[in-house]
Amino acid sequence: MSVPVFDGHNDTLLNLYMNHEASAEHFFQEVKGGHIDYSRAQKAGLRAGFFAVFPPPYASLSVPNPEDYLTKEGYDVPLPEKVDSEACKRVTDHMIDLLYRVEASSKQKVQVVTNFKSLRETFEHNQLAAVLHFEGAEAIDPDLSNLEDYYQKGLRSLGLVWSRPNAFAQGVPYRYPSTGDIGPGLTKAGKALVKKCNELGIMLDTSHLNEKGYWDVVSVSDDPIVATHSNAYALCPISRNLTDEQLNAIRASKGVVGVTYSVNMLRSDGKMNRDTPLQEIVRHIRYIADLIGVEHVALGSDFDGTTLPNELKDVTGVPKVVDVLREEGFTDEEVHKIASQNWLRVLKETWK
Ligand SMILES: [Zn+2]
Repeated sequence: MSVPVFDGHNDTLLNLYMNHEASAEHFFQEVKGGHIDYSRAQKAGLRAGFFAVFPPPYASLSVPNPEDYLTKEGYDVPLPEKVDSEACKRVTDHMIDLLYRVEASSKQKVQVVTNFKSLRETFEHNQLAAVLHFEGAEAIDPDLSNLEDYYQKGLRSLGLVWSRPNAFAQGVPYRYPSTGDIGPGLTKAGKALVKKCNELGIMLDTSHLNEKGYWDVVSVSDDPIVATHSNAYALCPISRNLTDEQLNAIRASKGVVGVTYSVNMLRSDGKMNRDTPLQEIVRHIRYIADLIGVEHVALGSDFDGTTLPNELKDVTGVPKVVDVLREEGFTDEEVHKIASQNWLRVLKETWK
């Protein structure tokens, strides 16, 4: 039987919304394409995941293709512009509705979880626990007046930014080689948002945040520091990855980093090359575990949102990653921590 998995980041709602007419039923059909549907998730042992709501506009948003922005040493994708918050609110509401329609058409197989008890029960009963996550805080009013409404609708995890600026913070553009030290830190509204999320029990996600913003979160937040889908800068020097100092702050706060399967964030050459062995994923997990402890590293695929290694293909490839973890010497207990227990611990700590 496959090892139960709690995954740190997927864009499956975006895939359903964009490519399948926001059909909740589509999630339960066996289909080709995409990385996650219900039957493949079951096969892979996926028991819980952060389901991202990604705000628009999609038409003008070019998924960064480094090939278009080559430099002498690598690439430098320009920072996308701020987006209209009213449009973001409309799409956010549609995508929240989509997640609840997935739950409603699941015959009890999918549960949107909003407290630790229901998360643990759903996870243990071989169902799929979905955590509602926003990838970018664009839908939240700068005076935070609608944050509690979103909390009531189930929001339990918030990425302050995607790779662009908003009223709260600035994300990093995709640049290789480069640290994430690009642009200013959190705004006053951003710091207030961090405080308010601490108060409500909304997990804060620092993936896509620039370095100054990251250190602002570390100094303002009382909760474990989390990056849902980021890798080790020491192994792949792209702006989206975390330096050793940033990883040390995750350990100090008892937080966690979900290692992503994005090929350009795994490979030391930063290239968008699918011919990337699964050992590259485990190389990042090993590095982070050795640096800050196996309690602080987890999985954060970015399924349905990125370019994966050929060998992985989709969620059904996750058991192969688990096999490589074992081959590389991780014990059974360590494998379970990486595959699910570390995420469970951090949410238990963070959700009030
Ligand atoms: Zn992302």
